[in-house]
Amino acid sequence: MRDLHAEFVKYGKNAKYWMRRCAMMLPEINRRRIWRKKGFGSIYEYAAKLAGMNHEKVNECLRIMKHIEDKPELLEVAREKGLGAVRPVATIATKETAKLWAGKIEVMSKHTLTTYVRDYKNGRPGTADEQEVTVKLRAKLAKRFEEFKKRADFEKLLEKFMDEVDAEPKPEPVKTESKHIPTSIKKYVAIKTNGLCAHPGCNKPATEFHHTARFSLRNEHNPDQITPLCKAHHDLAHLGLIANEEKQPYEWQLRTFPDTTNHKYQVDQLVQAYRTG
Ligand SMILES: [Zn+2]
Ligand SMILES: [Zn+2]
Repeated sequence: MRDLHAEFVKYGKNAKYWMRRCAMMLPEINRRRIWRKKGFGSIYEYAAKLAGMNHEKVNECLRIMKHIEDKPELLEVAREKGLGAVRPVATIATKETAKLWAGKIEVMSKHTLTTYVRDYKNGRPGTADEQEVTVKLRAKLAKRFEEFKKRADFEKLLEKFMDEVDAEPKPEPVKTESKHIPTSIKKYVAIKTNGLCAHPGCNKPATEFHHTARFSLRNEHNPDQITPLCKAHHDLAHLGLIANEEKQPYEWQLRTFPDTTNHKYQVDQLVQAYRTG
C-alpha cells in the first residue's frame, strides 16, 4: 500500500526547496526586466503564473533580498532555510555582522531571534547613563510624587526605599534534589514582577521560572536566584546571552556572544534539550 503521508512529506520538502530557489531569483529577474521580455505585465504576474507566488510573497522576497544580496552568509542561510528564516535580521545585519547573525539564526528559534534583535536595536538595556521613566499613578499620588522628585536627594531616597523593600523577609533558600520550586518561592518572585517577564523592557507574561545560577549546578531553589521570564528571554539566558545574570534583572545586559568558558554555559549546552531551569 502507498504511504501517502511519506509521499506528501517528500513532495512537500521538494516543493519548498524549489520555491526557495524561485524566490531568490526574483531580484535578478526583476532587475533585468526578464518578465517584460517574456510578455508578462509585471514581476507579480510572472511569479504568479510561473511559480504560484502571490503578490505579498513577491514583495516580501524582493524586500528581504534587497537587504541580504550583498551578504553571502545570509544568502547561504536563505538558500537552506528560506527567506523567512533571515527576515528577523534582514534590516539589522551589516556586511560586517552578517556572519554573527547567520550564527544566531542557527541557534535560535524565530521568536527568540526576533526578541533578541528587538533588544539589540533598543540599545541593549542598561547601557545609557540616564533614562526617562514613565509611570502611571493615582492622580493624588502623582501630584505628591511630582513635588517629591524635586528634592536634590530624590534618587538616593528612591534607591533607599527600593533597597528596603528588597530586604523584606523572603522565603529561605531550599536545598533539594527536586526540580519542583516551592510555592512560597514562586509566589515571592512572581510578586516582584507582577507575573511579567523580568527582563528589562519586556512586558510579556512570564511563563517560566529561571534559575540564574542553574539548578543543576547548585541543587538549590534560592529566591534571589530565581526569576520569572517569558519563553524568548529564557531561551536567551540559556544561550548565554545575558551578562550579569546573577545580579538583579535591572543590571542585566545583552551579550553578542556567549562566554563559552563559563561553567553555566557548558552545562546549558549539555542540558539543552530538557530544561532543568
Ligand atoms: Zn521577556
Ligand atoms: Zn532557565
